[in-house]
This record gives sequence, C-alpha cells and structure tokens, in this order.
Amino acid sequence: MGRSEELYEQAVKVLPGGVNSPVRAYRAVGMAPRFITKADGPFLWDEDGKQYIDYVCSWGPMILGHNHPVIREAVERAVKDGLSFGAPTRREVEIAQLMVDLVPNIEMVRMVNSGTEAVMSAVRLARGATGRNKIIKFEGCYHGHSDCLLVNAGSSALAGGHPSSAGVPEDIVKHTLTAQFNDLSSVEALLEAWPGQVACVIVEPVAANMGVVNPAPGFLEGLCRLCDKSGALLIFDEVITGFRLALGGAQEYFGVKADLVTFGKIIGGGMPVGAYCGSKALMEQVAPCGPVYQAGTLSGNPVAMAAGLAQLTYLRDHPEVYADIAAKAQWLAEGMRSAAAEAGVPVAVNQIGSLLSPFFTPTEVSAFVDAKGSDVGRYAKYFQGMLHHGIALAPAQFEAMFVSAAHTQAELEATLAAVKAVFPQL
Ligand code: PMP
Repeated sequence: MGRSEELYEQAVKVLPGGVNSPVRAYRAVGMAPRFITKADGPFLWDEDGKQYIDYVCSWGPMILGHNHPVIREAVERAVKDGLSFGAPTRREVEIAQLMVDLVPNIEMVRMVNSGTEAVMSAVRLARGATGRNKIIKFEGCYHGHSDCLLVNAGSSALAGGHPSSAGVPEDIVKHTLTAQFNDLSSVEALLEAWPGQVACVIVEPVAANMGVVNPAPGFLEGLCRLCDKSGALLIFDEVITGFRLALGGAQEYFGVKADLVTFGKIIGGGMPVGAYCGSKALMEQVAPCGPVYQAGTLSGNPVAMAAGLAQLTYLRDHPEVYADIAAKAQWLAEGMRSAAAEAGVPVAVNQIGSLLSPFFTPTEVSAFVDAKGSDVGRYAKYFQGMLHHGIALAPAQFEAMFVSAAHTQAELEATLAAVKAVFPQL
C-alpha cells in the first residue's frame, strides 16, 4: 500500500469521501486519490515521491504552470504585509482596472472568493435588476454549487450521479429552467412559455463540465439575440474560459457580448478568488450603491489579489501564451485522434484553445446527449493507464484537460507515448 492509500484510509474517517471537493475523490475510477505534496511547472509529486505530468492544473487556475516564480514572489511580498485587513487596498483597484481594460463590455468588477459565489451573485443581480425570477441554464453545464444552479448540473455532480442535489427545496429550483446546449429552439421555447419572467440566461460559452463541447456556430450569437428580444440578461460564466480562450475570454474569442460575466480560477493565480462584472449601470445595483446585497469578509483578500494581479499582468505582457497553449492542445488532440484510429478505439477528441477532452464514443460530441454517450468505464481504464504512466488527468469523463504554458514538447511527447501505450489496452 502506498502513502496515498494510507492517507486515504485516514482521510475517509474525518473528511466525507476523504476530500474537500467531490471530483478529487477518484471514486469514478475506483481508486484512492493521489495525495499531492508539491507542484512545479507541468509536474505534480505525490506522497510516495512519484512525479506526474499534470493536466488538471488545479482545475484551471494554473495557466502558467505550477509555482510560477512571478506569482510566488508576488505572494511572498504580499504575505509580509499581513494576511487580511477587511479594508480596501490598492491592488483591488489595480486588478479591477486591469480586468476592465482587458475584458470587453465590462466597466466594473466585484471580487468574491470562488466561482460559485461569483455566479450566485451574478444571478441575484440579474434578478434584482430585471425584477424577474426565472433563470435559464443548460443541462450539463456547471455553475458552482449554489442552490438555484444545482439543477441538471455537470462536472462531478454529473459523474457522481447527482446532477441535482438533495437539500435544495423544490420551491427554490422551480424558477430554474433547463435548456439544451447548442439548441436555440429549446431556449426560445422556454422564453415563450414564461414571457417577461426570465431574468437571465446563463451559459458556459464553451461547455467544459460535460467534457469540452464547443458552441455551435451562431449559438452564442443566437442567445444574445434571444436575450435582447426578451429583456433577459445574458450571463457568460467564464470561470473556466476567462483569460484562457483569450485575454478577453469568450466574449473576445467569439465576438459576442454578454451583459454579466463571471470569473474564477485564473484571476486568482491559484488563490481562492472569483468575480462578477458588467456595465456600470448593472454593477451599481450592488450594495453599497444599490439594492442587491452581496458581501464578503475575505473578498479582495490582499494575498489573493497579489497572486491574481501578478498572473493577469503576466498574461497581458505575454499574450503569445495563448497561441502557444492552443497549439500544444491541438498537437495533443491530433495525436490522440491518430492513436485512437491506430488502436481501433472509438474516440472523439474535442479541443478549443488550451482545453481538450477525449470522449470514448464513435459519434461526434456536439451536445450534452452525445457527451453522455461516452463509455465512462473505458474512460476509467484510460485514466488508470495514464496515471500508471505518470500522467495525471481528471478522474472523470465530464471534465476538461488543461494545457499550461509550462508544458514543453518533452512532456507533450511523453503524454502521447502514454496514450499510444494505453489506447490499445482499452
Ligand atoms: N462555473 C464554472 C463554469 C466552473 O467550471 C466552476 C468550477 N469548476 C464553477 C463555476 C464554480 O467555481 P468554484 O469551484 O470556484 O466555486
């Protein structure tokens, strides 16, 4: 038994499932999770000292790889001045200004502590600003674990078989309507069924919590048009896509305007941060300016802001990162497709920018129903095989693979070699 297995035995006695977030549990693949001691660049090391090439990247924040010196040093400097003041600081203004400069169509930012909080607050703002109650989300999209969004959710809610959660009263989710990703008519039908009652349509502009599913041409533009027509606000949940698809996120990448945008992950550089953003008119509906209440003891935490500001500043100053990580992800995707063909295993690999995921299915994956058709048993075997070869992937099918700036050609080649060894065994 390795040290991860030993720790897991202890962990399950004091932590539900041995973890503090379900997707880490490796339950979908029937193993004890690796307990990690440190990370650097593209690598992780576990308690037994085994090294892995990491494509989880802390589920997205580590776009520059782990332990990047620029971010680490910014945090070290910030820590020396104190951990939390509960008062405004210069860095909060600087990071907000940077986000406003880089992200299209936003004039103001409110910092929170997670993606969940960002989305929960954006939905409250949309309801407060429109005076409407209903919201439309998409089956298989994940927007964090706040009550009204835990309906037909993706990510580990889906892998664990809990797309909707116990403990969420019917009365609360009766306002949450579910449409189908890449199917505008499903949105139109809901807007027609609830005229003048839908506060917002919330979407992951690239669905990345059912595995990666790209928006069909015209889908995001269509949402924008339908929202304009019905008076609903369009919320882009860019917790994954923000500062990843492009500096300006999905709005820049696809050239589509959202009314509210939520961020997390990358904007915290690895520290717990989220944000929701929009026009001045909308954002000034939030307390203390307006009637929509939202607050946070640790929001805008000085150490977290130092990490986020360092990462976003680095990305602004090195925009070539985006073409680089996209090219690497594309190289991997193409390599995986040929390896699958050679091994005679049906695999559909979706890739956009630095996000990719293989689905073990003979069909193309362009909707939630296709993603659900993936053979998750085969994914589990693939995961185990890759882990054995020193490649750390998400332990469940319905997640993205994240490529960082720290992955070099050597790691990519080692990854593809592992894929070529594992695919024929599936
Ligand atoms: N929205 C999206 C699109 C996400 O992928 C996630 C988390 N993976 C969240 C919201 C929730 O973020 P957090 O886990 O930081 O609460």
